[in-house]
Amino acid sequence: MIRHLYIHIPFCHHICPYCAFYKHQPGSLANRTFVNSILEEARISAGEFEVQPETIFFGGGTPSLLSPTLITLLCEGLRDIFDLSKIREWTLESNPATFDLKKARLFRDLGITRPSLGVQSFHPRTLSTLGRDHSADEADEAFRILGESGFDNVSIDLMFSIPGQSLQDWESDLRHAIALNPSHISCYNLTYEEDTEFMQRHKKGELDANEDRDADAFYLALSLLEQNGFAHYEISNYARPGFESLHNQAYWSGSDYLGLGPGAVSTVTNIRWKNLPDTAGYTRAVLDGKSVKTEVEHLTDEDRRIEAIALQLRTAKGLPTGYIDGLYPVDSLTQQGLIVKKGDRYCLTYEGKALADPISASLV
Ligand code: SF4
Repeated sequence: MIRHLYIHIPFCHHICPYCAFYKHQPGSLANRTFVNSILEEARISAGEFEVQPETIFFGGGTPSLLSPTLITLLCEGLRDIFDLSKIREWTLESNPATFDLKKARLFRDLGITRPSLGVQSFHPRTLSTLGRDHSADEADEAFRILGESGFDNVSIDLMFSIPGQSLQDWESDLRHAIALNPSHISCYNLTYEEDTEFMQRHKKGELDANEDRDADAFYLALSLLEQNGFAHYEISNYARPGFESLHNQAYWSGSDYLGLGPGAVSTVTNIRWKNLPDTAGYTRAVLDGKSVKTEVEHLTDEDRRIEAIALQLRTAKGLPTGYIDGLYPVDSLTQQGLIVKKGDRYCLTYEGKALADPISASLV
């Protein structure tokens, strides 16, 4: 049974220069035909697999920019295709200035429970470095609107270790976010991804990377957010008790999930595939009854083990000991105080948290 559904809406009004997700400006493609193609893929999948979603995640791109008509068509169409009576969490990735109060109320009426607001920073210079197309005031207003429309579970995304961002700037971003009182905050360390403008500028020496800056900013977030009642339940994620993301926890624990839409990834019983990352081609193919699956992979036990180490060691719950017990680096990592055994799990220590990725890499 597949209990987790991801839907990729690839449209963004403005393309951020650091972003490696499949996305593009809507042009004439954000239309009924696009939504109908997602619903058609959903219908085909419902015939192929047993699907009863407990979590739905509208990601992108910027799903909140869909017009009221299109998002209604999409949500109601999904309700006709799948049994949504067991839904526990329905996330909508959203950007400031893409919705007003009326639209936010519509999101709630349609069943969405968890808007995730892409703020990244409240600092004008950092927003400008990141090429964001909204201001801090617009982010505040978007958050206020979500509260007024009745959402009690709103997540805010922030980014740190951005060239030119001082530790003081980062602290003021964190304090600003805390003052808004969201239920969840994600803090992402800027990374330079292939095929992005930021990577080109990094290669030319215009944008630097700095591991000390990464670690200082990471520990500042950890300390400030924990002091303010947020539990650090995954390296990049903090939540008030009971507001941890169910959808993301399902990914990290290796559950099956179905991804619909151009560029969406699915993993079902050790088979993983990616949908054609080409919106026009995806729409045409689905409506012509052709497969949109590309990059189909059969995951081996070893693939699953490597993935579990990479994902579960990053969580506060930790990694079941069976994945790494007896491996050569485990004793050394334990003696260095980077991991610790707690019952039947290995967890990162405070010192190990800033080194999650290299620690995982040493174990595979
Ligand atoms: S809004 Fe989000 S998905 Fe769109 S380009 Fe920017 S970071 Fe990427």
